[in-house]
Amino acid sequence: MAPDLVEQLRSVCERVSVDPADLAVASRDRWAMAPAAARSPDAVALPATTAEVAAVLAVCSRARVPVTPAGARSGVCGGAIPVHGGVVVDLRGLAGVTSVDERSLLVHAGAGTMGDALEATLRGDHGLTLGHRPQSVAISTLGGWLACRSAGQYSTRYGKIEDMVVGLEVALADGRVIRTGGPPRAATGPDMSQLFVGSEGTLGVITAATLRAHPAPVVERRAAYGFASFAAGVDACRRILRRGATPAVLRLYDVAESARSFDRSTNVLVVLDEGDGRLVEAVLAIVDEEGTATGGDDLGPEPVERWLATRDDTYDTDALARQGIVGDTMEVAASWSVLPALYEQVTAAVAAVAGTVWTSGHLSHAYGDGACIYITFAGAGTDWYVAAWDAAAAVVLALGGALSHHHGVGLAKARFLAAALGPAHGVLVDLKRALDPTGVLNPGKLGLPDPFGEVAWPAG
Ligand SMILES: Cc1cc2nc3c(=O)[nH]c(=O)nc-3n(C[C@H](O)[C@H](O)[C@H](O)COP(=O)(O)OP(=O)(O)OC[C@H]3O[C@@H](n4cnc5c(N)ncnc54)[C@H](O)[C@@H]3O)c2cc1C
Repeated sequence: MAPDLVEQLRSVCERVSVDPADLAVASRDRWAMAPAAARSPDAVALPATTAEVAAVLAVCSRARVPVTPAGARSGVCGGAIPVHGGVVVDLRGLAGVTSVDERSLLVHAGAGTMGDALEATLRGDHGLTLGHRPQSVAISTLGGWLACRSAGQYSTRYGKIEDMVVGLEVALADGRVIRTGGPPRAATGPDMSQLFVGSEGTLGVITAATLRAHPAPVVERRAAYGFASFAAGVDACRRILRRGATPAVLRLYDVAESARSFDRSTNVLVVLDEGDGRLVEAVLAIVDEEGTATGGDDLGPEPVERWLATRDDTYDTDALARQGIVGDTMEVAASWSVLPALYEQVTAAVAAVAGTVWTSGHLSHAYGDGACIYITFAGAGTDWYVAAWDAAAAVVLALGGALSHHHGVGLAKARFLAAALGPAHGVLVDLKRALDPTGVLNPGKLGLPDPFGEVAWPAG
């Protein structure tokens, strides 16, 4: 980076840090491979306004310096790692709920707003909820959710973040600021908001968003069922969704996870719904009919209570790494027709890789057409890790599934993306060239051409 670039950045953005402690924090995210893949940026810009973000991007574009957006760095795919150094733009200064239209159920907030703060404002000041509660709600930002197509634990009722977004404010690589969306279901050309949702900071930097909210729920009900096979539980979920019932939480754990989390020997289905009382009662009645019809044993609410008490527990990836063990998760998705095969074949493929010490899975998010299977796996060393992902990705792509449902691609899955998207990846490349001609925005991610040179991962 040219020596005077920091001065140029400081002339357009009040807070720019080159403090080694700040650079170290900005060098990584929560990816299992982050300890090995971390790379220090040369500077961290901490803008407080959209104008400052736009000006920083313009400076970096002109100077051809890589610029990596970062929210709270809770991402688990290496997306916020500045793989070529350069500038990290820490967006947490763009925080706060700026307006709420209670009548239209719309909330406008800065991209750097932390998830728990956003929800607390909606509930405390307006009697509303966003309905978005990822496990990482207290360690992630609104912009990060949008950039990665995040899913919360209550997604079966409220949808994923891409279902909630109504409009965006985005700073482009050349310093322009655009606003997308707004009125409900506009047919004024393609949905420009969705172009940036899931683009992981490679096409523009999201600076603010308008989202749909909901009245805070007045009723909550819980139920749980045990199934002799995972496939039977999957079928119960399919039939529940097919009837139009959308319980906020619908999670089916395989025997390994049911034993670990619930001390049960069957495949446990955890159900929780909330909202308007009449709707909730109807949903729980359908859940009970389908749960019973597919052979589920009524377990009462106890497993749901356990789930609520432990749902934010995590394992310490850095501590595992110090023991030579890598633990990671893959959240893959497919239609109901192939979902049982996806679960069986992905877990079997990973288990067959030499060095694997654990594989398990649960169905975590469900829709009318299919669901997400969240697989946890662990093994020894980087070579094992690469082989496990290669084996899993081959199965997912052969079955026509999605390699990610809500964590995104980042660096971790970049090598698979051209195969996953086929010729459509070429369109993404074209869009990237049009919106970011110098290629400075988050290079090395999404399998896009990288003007700063091939990233060493996983070869290095
Ligand atoms: C313990 C734990 C639990 C988790 N649980 C869930 C879960 O339940 N559901 C879920 O969906 N995810 C979960 N995650 C993953 C993570 O929290 C999400 O990916 C989240 O969306 C990342 O938000 P962030 O603010 O931390 O983004 P970061 O990690 O800082 O960034 C993620 C990516 O988005 C880009 N980016 C960030 N902000 C912007 C912006 N404003 N504009 C453009 N690009 C931007 C970055 O460049 C990077 O590529 C979990 C992670 C952890 C560690």
